Amino acid sequence: MIIYLLRLFRKHVSVADMSCIVQKFGGTSVADIDCIKMAAKRVVSAYNSGNQMVVVVSAMAGVTNNLIELTEQVNGIFDVREYDVILSSGEQTNAGLMALAIQDLGIQARSWLGWQLPIKTDSKYGRARITEIDISEIKKRIENNEVAVVPGFQGLSKENRITTLGRGGSDLTAVAIAGALNADRCEIYTDVDGIYTCDPRIVSKAKKLDKVTYEEMLELASQGARVLQARSVELAKNHGVRVEVKSAFTDTPGTQVVSEDEILEKEVVSGISYSSDEAKITLRRVKDQPGVAAGIFGPLADASVNVDMIVQNVSEDGKTTDLTFTVTAKDLNHAKEVLSEKKSKIGFDELVSDSNLSKISIVGVGMRSNTGVAKTMFNTLAKKNINIKVISTSEIKISVLIDTEYTELALRALHSAYGLDQ
Ligand code: ADP
Ligand code: ASP
Ligand code: MG
Repeated sequence: MIIYLLRLFRKHVSVADMSCIVQKFGGTSVADIDCIKMAAKRVVSAYNSGNQMVVVVSAMAGVTNNLIELTEQVNGIFDVREYDVILSSGEQTNAGLMALAIQDLGIQARSWLGWQLPIKTDSKYGRARITEIDISEIKKRIENNEVAVVPGFQGLSKENRITTLGRGGSDLTAVAIAGALNADRCEIYTDVDGIYTCDPRIVSKAKKLDKVTYEEMLELASQGARVLQARSVELAKNHGVRVEVKSAFTDTPGTQVVSEDEILEKEVVSGISYSSDEAKITLRRVKDQPGVAAGIFGPLADASVNVDMIVQNVSEDGKTTDLTFTVTAKDLNHAKEVLSEKKSKIGFDELVSDSNLSKISIVGVGMRSNTGVAKTMFNTLAKKNINIKVISTSEIKISVLIDTEYTELALRALHSAYGLDQ
């Protein structure tokens, strides 16, 4: 009866008065058929309230990891274009299942794969960037009372081949579609009920934030908080897409990602994130002369190794210096190979590396106008006897590199020190 009344209500809302909502469901939210049915009910309930609905789905939790394992079983040096064909399949299955589950609730729905729309990308297979989205077909269908379902994480390159958008890339698909459609909001459904001051699975005293700024979320995500993919936050910020992170399993209000002028009281530290797959390389006795940094970081960039923190020590003799920088643990061996090959050209004595490291970052827009933030961080870590190996800062972030074994201790201590405990 209620469903019938709601549908009647929807019929009386004119297309011009309808809101357009993109709902994205992450891996745990569509982990099995029961979850997909539950998500479909959420979509249909918003549809019946008079909204135009686009649904973006991830693969079932764990599926993408299993697909990666399969590719690795075939050979170690895989063709990344085939890797993308395989990896994108998890989302394809779920798009079809979601469309069926919505149809089962009596609403017309259909799915489009990335290449069918198409969602065009560049040719950086495995971590492609979206260049253009054709939403004309989706727009036509949602205005005609259908629900559109799109698999996240996938696109089409100029060479007419399937691409994937990097891990966590379904968030990017959802935000990009919301931006292209000029949607009223983009709801990201996941296994936590919002964005917290720190990963709630590590710091049990973490607090849920009602609002967080794009800038803060971008830093938190870039520094390891995987609740939103960093590139999706960047896109949301650039296109003014209203993003809300919510639980797929409860109806509690989530966290809104907003622009800075929507937050009156700017927190000095809003959140803390970590990434535990860091590695450090030190090149000892590098020549202290112009062009050396370019000689080191140029070949690393050409080899697609992402360098993060960089510290160059003061030269004691005016001739040579030590240069330290970080890469992800996954890239360490590749980086070492690249540098060893160029050893005589760069001119250094020795390469030393260390891989059991974590990066802890504190983030807050209020940092711009407050002093003493770094002091609290260093004092807190010193009190716990945690040694800082590298430090880097931006306008609204301070990151430190520490031994991985102290990650949880550091996160909890800093969380308390900045008054974030609930
Ligand atoms: P999905 O599959 O829905 O995309 P993800 O695993 O990518 O989900 O992201 C959700 C996870 O992000 C949570 O389970 C949580 O452990 C983690 N996380 C890390 N940092 C935070 C944070 N600051 N707030 C909320 N969750 C966080
Ligand atoms: N399934 C992909 C991943 O696990 C994309 C996503 O879930 O966002 O990275
Ligand atoms: Mg995710």
